[in-house]
Amino acid sequence: MSRKRIAAANWKMNTNLQEGEELLTQLVNKKLDRSTDIIVCAPFTHLASLCKQVNGNDQVKIAAQNMSDHDKGAYTGEVSAAMLLSVGVTHVVIGHSERREYFNESDELLGRKLKKAIENNITPIFCCGEQLSIRKEGNHIKHVISQLTRSFSGCSKDDLKELIIAYEPIWAIGTGETASPEQAEEMQLEIRKFLSNAYDQELADTTPILYGGSVKPGNAKDIFSKPNVDGGLVGGASLNAEGFSIIVNSF
Ligand code: PEP
Repeated sequence: MSRKRIAAANWKMNTNLQEGEELLTQLVNKKLDRSTDIIVCAPFTHLASLCKQVNGNDQVKIAAQNMSDHDKGAYTGEVSAAMLLSVGVTHVVIGHSERREYFNESDELLGRKLKKAIENNITPIFCCGEQLSIRKEGNHIKHVISQLTRSFSGCSKDDLKELIIAYEPIWAIGTGETASPEQAEEMQLEIRKFLSNAYDQELADTTPILYGGSVKPGNAKDIFSKPNVDGGLVGGASLNAEGFSIIVNSF
């Protein structure tokens, strides 16, 4: 079963608008393997402009890093799905560990955001992952499956047909410490088994599951070589166009 190969760049809260536009220009001018889908997850302030920049480019899509679970109204500081759609955004990151940790986003809230994205035909990149203490206790698989179970409750198979999952062990994000390809594969296989048990084998076989956590030009090939790793969600290393293009070409 062949799945999409995806390299997603999470710029986080980095770059001003001009720097973001320049970084995207540098990236699209690199030699990029056409069989890899590229998703750039940019700050809200950049989205309208970057969507215009990639208009007509069928390889590069623009994602928001977060989204409100509400449609509209008195939610100062929030950005709705309709607002994202109006500027051309096609994807949204939901449940990044930094949102879970620093902004107290619960599995239930993330489930509501997930449903809101689906309702609006925005493709969710749903993140999950465990803290180091949980891995040390040996409870990492249970923890990640519980995150997915809680947030996906009430979603049908049809709701999840465009879903992308990103497994990101928190201890490997921005730390320079990467999960071994075997550790990534072990979890990603378990996530696929969860999809098969909770939904069916077809959804398990077709859902792209990315690995995130200190993916770099030097380790991407090894990680992406695993059968259940369909690509990467890349933070730090996505801020350099040359390095990120090497990751894009590492399948
Ligand atoms: C991330 O931001 O999702 C991430 C994985 O960051 P880094 O690649 O820097 O570890």
